[in-house]
Amino acid sequence: MTRLRVEVLRDRCAGYANCVDTAPDVFDLDEHDIAVVGAEDYPQDQRGVLERAVRRCPPKAIVVTDS
Ligand code: SF4
Repeated sequence: MTRLRVEVLRDRCAGYANCVDTAPDVFDLDEHDIAVVGAEDYPQDQRGVLERAVRRCPPKAIVVTDS
């Protein structure tokens, strides 16, 4: 089964941290308050929480694709 690739578009991220609130096992903020992703990819059972994080990111900085 394919896995889910998660990317943060750093030039869009505005540090709202909604993603960290929504999926603390996936996202964190770096020292510049830009979101970073903890792993290269994630299993399909994380799709729901990842899609919620996408919806909750105001500048649409999170991209989730099948890898
Ligand atoms: S919710 Fe979006 S803008 Fe906010 S920290 Fe996460 S990726 Fe960045």
